[in-house]
Amino acid sequence: MQVPPFSLEKQLSNLGQEINLAVSRTLQSGQYIGGEEVKSFERAFAESVCVPYAVSCNSGTDALILALRALDIGPGDEVITVSFSFFATAEAISNVGATPVFVDVDFDTFLIDHKLIKEAITPFTKAILPVHLFGSPVDMTAITAIAQEYGLKVIEDCAQAAGTLYNNQPVGSFGDVGCFSFFPTKNLGSAGDGGAITTHDFSIAERIRELSVHGMPMRYLHTSLGYNSRLDAVQASVLNVKLPYLPKWINQRIEIASRYIDSLKEIPFLKMPIVENTNNSLHSYNQFVVKVNKDFIDESLSKDLNPLPNNILSNLPDSRSRDWLKNNLSNRGVHTIIYYPIPIHLQPAYQNDTFDIQSLKNSEKLSSQVLSLPMFPELSIDMQDYVIQNIRELLLNIS
Ligand SMILES: *Cc1c(COP(=O)(O)O)cnc(C)c1O
Repeated sequence: MQVPPFSLEKQLSNLGQEINLAVSRTLQSGQYIGGEEVKSFERAFAESVCVPYAVSCNSGTDALILALRALDIGPGDEVITVSFSFFATAEAISNVGATPVFVDVDFDTFLIDHKLIKEAITPFTKAILPVHLFGSPVDMTAITAIAQEYGLKVIEDCAQAAGTLYNNQPVGSFGDVGCFSFFPTKNLGSAGDGGAITTHDFSIAERIRELSVHGMPMRYLHTSLGYNSRLDAVQASVLNVKLPYLPKWINQRIEIASRYIDSLKEIPFLKMPIVENTNNSLHSYNQFVVKVNKDFIDESLSKDLNPLPNNILSNLPDSRSRDWLKNNLSNRGVHTIIYYPIPIHLQPAYQNDTFDIQSLKNSEKLSSQVLSLPMFPELSIDMQDYVIQNIRELLLNIS
């Protein structure tokens, strides 16, 4: 059996006619940019996040850039965020001319350690940018309290967290702005790139709308240097079909996660993700990420298992056990992914920047231990069992 880490085939065949009809209706309408599909998606998406305004754009990365620009964050400003995330989180901050300031993540939750934020605040700090990584909600009560005390903006990176709840409330509705991605592998995926910004503030929504269309509040009047960043009407029509299914798909993800946890929690060397579906929070499990937390493989057996360049590997803790498990699972047809093998502060793109490396130990350790098991709503019971059985065989034989 082959188990892919992610697949859209089954979802497409379940939805087949609906998507085809919506796409062909949009193609026939001749309205490819803007129009009713885009407007109705923005209304429906805003409603699903419990905010009055959603503005669509070209990607989650652009959503972050547009949000930062709309909040007037640029050269000379600092934004507090995490190094253990997808690269785009920090890249967006740097690309508007501001400086990412990394604080470490909590080793158990993978999320920003809010106890470390205050010491990272300087006179140049303008915003906090927490990431609801893997679909798990950040403690927004703590973040909001710090932001209020220090007069900082909050930009939520919700790229992996469409449908995630904190305190019974959707993420993306706590900060000044929430940034979503509709990249195909996210909880709500389009048939290409797409993104959206959510906000309670009309003027921020308007500013983002202008920036996303060349800083143009009125046709051919350009009041600032903006971008061309829109959600295509065809993508909006795909998303209009998919959005009503999001709660069901998240329930399926949660069921798969519970099954993984029940069947794997006693396995030596393996640490399950923390279940946050308590206290009125809902982890949407965009990824199911385990930690391989003991070195049980002899160094000589695993020298070549990690494909990263040596100069980067030498800065990271030993990953040989995780790499051994990943490779052996792959040989048995179970395909896993490492999110993320290199924390952002160690990426070559940031080699000329200086960070307080000492304080990012959890981010580095996680990069060497994490492994994402196959996770998508349509993952069959047979496939789940095959994943579980192979992990059990491999790890129970070691111990
Ligand atoms: C996917 C992702 C992004 C970027 O979204 P794109 O639509 O791919 O540009 C940003 N942040 C995080 C945490 C992501 O996972």
